[in-house]
Amino acid sequence: MSERNGSNAPVHLSKSILGTWERCRLAYKYERVDRIASAVPPSAAQLRGSAAHAAVAEILKGALEPGAAASLAVIDRIVDGHGLAGGDGDRVRGWVVDAASIALERGGTLRWVEELFSVERTDVFTLWAKFDIAIVGGALAPLEVIDFTFGAHRVTTPEELASSIGARAYRLAAGHVEPDRSIRPIAITELHGPSCSTVTIVPDDAYVIDAWAQMKAVAAEIRTARETDEFPATPGRHCGWCAYRDRCPVVNADDIAPL
Ligand code: SF4
Repeated sequence: MSERNGSNAPVHLSKSILGTWERCRLAYKYERVDRIASAVPPSAAQLRGSAAHAAVAEILKGALEPGAAASLAVIDRIVDGHGLAGGDGDRVRGWVVDAASIALERGGTLRWVEELFSVERTDVFTLWAKFDIAIVGGALAPLEVIDFTFGAHRVTTPEELASSIGARAYRLAAGHVEPDRSIRPIAITELHGPSCSTVTIVPDDAYVIDAWAQMKAVAAEIRTARETDEFPATPGRHCGWCAYRDRCPVVNADDIAPL
C-alpha cells in the first residue's frame, strides 16, 4: 500500500487512511507520501485496542468459547505480549469476552476474521479493507460486517455510523468481495467493546452509489494535494494520538497528553 508522490500514482484508500485524511492532511503526508515511520511509542489506549483486536480474532478463528479457560489463556498471552498489566489487562479481558460473545450470539457462519482485501474498480484508486469479522446468515442480515472498537470514541446512532467514511469503505469492500446479490442486504455494525454496545446500519443501493462517488472525490482531492504539495495541518483533539506529534511544526508535543 505504499504511495508514490507523483500526481498520477494510484491512490490507496482504507478506513484508516480516509480517517487520517479527514483529520489532518499533514499527518496523511507524513504517513502516506513521505512514508515516515512513527517514532512515537503506542499509548496505553492503542496497546489495549491492539491486544483486544488480536485476542478476539484468535478466539473466533479458533472457535473457542469466549469465557472458557482456553479463551482466557489466549487473552492472557496476548495481554502479556502487549505489556499490559493490572487494570489495563483486566479491562482487555472483559472487552474481549464480551465482544466475542456478542458476535457469536448473531448465529450464522463466521467469515473474513481479520482478513485484508483490496478493491481495484478504477485506475484512480484502490480501496483496502481489513474486516474484523463478517457473519453470513446471522440474526441481523444475510451478510453483516462487524467492526470492533475499543477506544474512548464510539458512534452512538445509526445516522452517525452511516455518515462515517469508514462505514462507507466497509460497505463498498464487502459488496465487492461478496458480489452475490442474493446475499443482500449487507449490514455494517460497529461494536464498542468497553460499553458492550452495537450500532448497525443496513445501507441501500443509493448509499452505495453515493459512497463510490465520495471515494472518487477523495481520491481526486488527494491527487490535487500531491500536485500542489499542499497538506495543511489541522490540529485538534486527535493530535493526542497522532503518530507524528513529535515532529509536527504546529503542535508542541509537550502540550499533548497521550490518550
Ligand atoms: S500533531 Fe495534529 S496537526 Fe500535527 S500532524 Fe498530527 S494530527 Fe496534524
